[in-house]
Amino acid sequence: MTTMTFISIVALLLLLLLPSTIIIIAFDGDLDSDSDSIISRFQRYLQIDTSHPSPDYQQAADFILSQASSLSLESQTLEFVKGKPLILLKWTGTSPHLPSILLNSHTDVVPVEPHKWSHPPFHAQINSGGNIYARGSQDMKCVGLQYLEAIRNLKNKDSGFQPIRTIYVSFVPDEEIGGHDGAELFAKSKVFHEMNVGIVLDEGLASPEDYYRLFYAERCPMWLVIKATGAPGHGAKLYDNTAMENLMKSIESVRRFRASQFDLVKAGLKAEGEVISVNMAFLKAGTPSPTGFVMNLQPSEAQAGFDIRVPPIADQASLERRIAEEWAPASRNMTFESGQFKQKVSVYDENGKPILTGHDSSNPWWSLLEGAILKANGKVGKPEIFPASTDARYFRLRGIPAIGFSPMANTPILLHDHNEFLNKEEYLKGIEVYVSILKAFASFVEVEKDAATYRDEL
Ligand SMILES: [Zn+2]
Repeated sequence: MTTMTFISIVALLLLLLLPSTIIIIAFDGDLDSDSDSIISRFQRYLQIDTSHPSPDYQQAADFILSQASSLSLESQTLEFVKGKPLILLKWTGTSPHLPSILLNSHTDVVPVEPHKWSHPPFHAQINSGGNIYARGSQDMKCVGLQYLEAIRNLKNKDSGFQPIRTIYVSFVPDEEIGGHDGAELFAKSKVFHEMNVGIVLDEGLASPEDYYRLFYAERCPMWLVIKATGAPGHGAKLYDNTAMENLMKSIESVRRFRASQFDLVKAGLKAEGEVISVNMAFLKAGTPSPTGFVMNLQPSEAQAGFDIRVPPIADQASLERRIAEEWAPASRNMTFESGQFKQKVSVYDENGKPILTGHDSSNPWWSLLEGAILKANGKVGKPEIFPASTDARYFRLRGIPAIGFSPMANTPILLHDHNEFLNKEEYLKGIEVYVSILKAFASFVEVEKDAATYRDEL
């Protein structure tokens, strides 16, 4: 048999089989093929290596723009810094004058140590249990694509759905290195101002329990360096006020404070995000020698660096007093100047108010969010403060409510860890949750009583 004949016979057989294939698709495979294509889109996004220090932002942007065009969303690429595209998508509402909804996610991910992973971190392989392994599967490519899948769902299946408020979706660069060239410039931009944003959704954390976690604020970093000085001397001599001794007293004082905060968490009195955390990041002391350090010399300088995280419900001013009086007192030859903070983020906004989003019925968006999650058969935990930093702070700084939420329940917290994964069922459920949220948010119209209504009531 020639090759051509063989191909012809195969083609004929396929044609004969075709009708039954169609029947199978129509009656049996519809839902499965739907979720298969949803998962394969997620895999494609995860397979783009956007890890620092050289994220492939261009490929991520191309992918997002292709998704946007398949959804008929308006799109624009903003480049506040060259080579760092921010993709902004828009679904215009029927009442575009109402404050809009912004769904934010970052496209970058933290670096990986591939040899410590059981699955290659940018292959997005799925194991037999349905876990999708990839860097970014939790933080936070899941959320970015879930927003789009929810929109796809609302546009296709509920063809009648029309948002009243305009929905924006932003994909920002550089969150993992501070967001300065991404969300920070975006939140300060004219484009952002003109978007008239009323509520921002941004990232949260996975929850090992059966409920989702919602974040209304985050701790602000203070990176502190304290420096001790003292007279140098022979390594055999006991005398007061050496740099090492002075620094050790401070470290002991910091350690006691750290323990007191940690005890509150261990006792269940406070959540992790509600206490001030202090962790030593470096110790720098000693007089170097070709073989290590000079051993018979007490050095004249010693330094220690601390990563401190302050929740906006804490008293930042009293912490600063503690630093000046106990951790780095001038009386012990310690220096601590505000200039020695490598980073210091205020817990107050431009108007001097603590940077937090209302997390009770005083904020209608909070109630709508909780209600929408419950409606989608999800559970919600107690409102929390995010223990680290996210881009949400740049929006809160502008006085705009921002809620941190990544729909991942029954999931171990693996952001920035090896073998980061998300189960595909959990991912699919998250899309349903966002469908519910978008319906609630985009249909929300505040009943504002105008003068005429008041007159009628009187
Ligand atoms: Zn993140």
